[in-house]
Amino acid sequence: ALYHEMTARMPRWIRINTLRATRDEVLAWLAEHSYAQVEADEIGGVKEFAVSKHVQGLLAFHPKATSALLQTEMYRDNWIVMQDLASCFPAYILDPPADAQVVDATSAPGNKTSHLSAIMFAKSSRRIGQSEGRVVAFERDALRYKTLVKRLAAVGALAKDATTGNVIPERRDFLTTNPADFGDVTHMLLDPSCSGSGIVNRLDFLKEDDDVDELEDTVAAETGETKLQRRLRQLGEFQLLMIRHAFKFPGLRKVVYSTCSVHAQENEAVVIRALHSEEADKFGWRLAPRSEVIPTWPVRGDPDACGKEQGVAESVIRCIPGGKGEGDKPHVEACNGFFVACFVKHAPTKRPLE
Ligand code: SAM
Repeated sequence: ALYHEMTARMPRWIRINTLRATRDEVLAWLAEHSYAQVEADEIGGVKEFAVSKHVQGLLAFHPKATSALLQTEMYRDNWIVMQDLASCFPAYILDPPADAQVVDATSAPGNKTSHLSAIMFAKSSRRIGQSEGRVVAFERDALRYKTLVKRLAAVGALAKDATTGNVIPERRDFLTTNPADFGDVTHMLLDPSCSGSGIVNRLDFLKEDDDVDELEDTVAAETGETKLQRRLRQLGEFQLLMIRHAFKFPGLRKVVYSTCSVHAQENEAVVIRALHSEEADKFGWRLAPRSEVIPTWPVRGDPDACGKEQGVAESVIRCIPGGKGEGDKPHVEACNGFFVACFVKHAPTKRPLE
């Protein structure tokens, strides 16, 4: 019943894919097909939609509008991408300029990758296909890599020839990359495998996270840890390793870390450990202030998980699964449970790592 109540409150989020259509074209299509724009929190029927207050180019529809939207030519021609609000935060916060050299460390199926590409082209005076910047998209899993390439091509983000996008996919384990080979990289998205515990509505996340195990919290191991505790500990170690590796990229200025987990062990705890790592100290990594991390978003980090590091809680973003709304009406802040932190680097003051 709780699950039903939460998903009923979650609008169907749609990102306008500006690699294929303009915002005006999408809004005109909606008007022609009798969809009416209403105020946020006023979506009462399947023919009503609202514009996100937090992320540009994102529209909210009634959850019952989904099947009709999936049958439109707008969807078929990839003018729109079905992408949850929370899943749009990372690329929006990373906000790479048109000429940025970006790495998406963990890309498949590529929703955030193509969002990055669209953000860069929107800032560029050049036509799509002539971007000054580029996104190198790593994915280590063979099957998921295939999905990534297919998806990038469909939405117009793949750098195939002079008339397409700016994303170069590479089937590769991010942890085997040598940061020194990527001296020009300035921005990075890090959305590693996680427990997926924040996912309420699997519609968009099904593909994003189908590498995730189903966790049960029932079996106790010899150590006294439950299966869930052990898995969260392992995931936390892996996620920390990924951030520490990212910190070593010499030209990097901004890293956005995200999970679709509600567990502090994968979120605030990982961020705090990363801030205390050798790499953070030597290269001068810190958290970006709230003013640079969607300041209008009301739900920040869990203060209980931050202990003495209360500054961390303000700087990071959490999404409460299903949002904070009540009753059956779709709520404009309702989305899957999610976490985002944005690390930035000031000039290193100490001897760089050997
Ligand atoms: N960012 C994606 C999106 O929005 O569509 C979802 C990413 S999903 C949460 C994590 C992905 O990272 C999985 O496809 C997984 O196979 C991949 N992955 C995990 N560890 C990796 C590594 N060390 N190097 C490259 N890819 C990795």
